[in-house]
Amino acid sequence: MDEQFKQLHAGRMQEKKAQVLAAVERAQTERGIVVLLTGHGKGKTTSAFGMLYRALGHGLRAGVVQFIKGTHATGEITFLHHLGLLGQGPASQVQYHAMATGCTWQRSDWDADKPAADIAWQAAQRMLCDDSLRLVVLDELTFMLQYGYLQMEYVLQAIRNRPQGQTVVITGRSAHAQLIALADTVSDIAETKHAFKAGVKAQAGVDF
Ligand code: ATP
Ligand code: MG
Repeated sequence: MDEQFKQLHAGRMQEKKAQVLAAVERAQTERGIVVLLTGHGKGKTTSAFGMLYRALGHGLRAGVVQFIKGTHATGEITFLHHLGLLGQGPASQVQYHAMATGCTWQRSDWDADKPAADIAWQAAQRMLCDDSLRLVVLDELTFMLQYGYLQMEYVLQAIRNRPQGQTVVITGRSAHAQLIALADTVSDIAETKHAFKAGVKAQAGVDF
């Protein structure tokens, strides 16, 4: 490698380091945030569970509400179950609720799903009032709002009034503008390609 390139590289790295250090210095506020993972690309729910496992790794308590249950038991939930971390009781490290009737992509029956959505929202509300939970994942919340199962004003109010140190992670496609406005961090995951569109079947460990 020639000397001139090495010097140029060292200079650029020095500049980068100074920028990062200045940004770290500026970020001094400590509080829970709202993370919104939306868009049509793959990676919303798995990213939310990545954050959940991070929190658990630090010994923190968390809550998860899944507003849509797919047809397969997912690896991320089965894994927590095997570790004995899941439950609805106060002693569980992860408070967990999945919508009972399972409003799914395949089937939707308002009369069965609306009461189940209300019960799931009650579970979410309890979590959003519990300051022992440092992370609350509301998986597929956007779907519930989009199709009128839950009312935006109640959802926004509960999230705004949560304990100061609690972080909320919301996932789902087509996030409403009011949710985007409320969130501190928004990732819009674009679908550049998806294997399913090329005929590849959904598989354990990759898609569920
Ligand atoms: P994942 O659970 O893999 O992180 P996701 O939460 O971003 O995906 P959803 O919109 O919740 O995606 O879709 C649920 C299921 O559909 C998952 O099995 C996921 O792998 C799959 N999926 C995600 N994005 C796409 C897509 N663009 N086309 C087809 N299938 C998708
Ligand atoms: Mg998802």
